[in-house]
Amino acid sequence: MKFPLKVCSLGKDENNISYAVHCDCGSTDHTCTMCFEANKDFGYSIQFYYDLCYSGAFYDSNKLMALWRRIKDALRLIFIGYVELQGDFVICQPEHFDNFLEALKEGKQFMEKSE
Ligand SMILES: [Zn+2]
Repeated sequence: MKFPLKVCSLGKDENNISYAVHCDCGSTDHTCTMCFEANKDFGYSIQFYYDLCYSGAFYDSNKLMALWRRIKDALRLIFIGYVELQGDFVICQPEHFDNFLEALKEGKQFMEKSE
């Protein structure tokens, strides 16, 4: 199926069908890849993937505070092993929302046909 706005099919094979869903915030970094997997041996799943970017400057307009936050996060990563990040994924336009729902329905039908 072709989606006219901000959702596109990435293809499918015997066990998977995938879509790219673009974020309405304007960043091209927030495109979400939505994968429906149907495997008779391992079951069914929907997986959502998108890249997270680190930006300490986003949180503080004060450059010294931004630098201090980055140092603290780097130390946390070194000594604790991870940092917590948040990303957004926004759908604002009704047509975009409808296309997202259509992709979900199409993926669900794909999984149901695989049963
Ligand atoms: Zn976004």
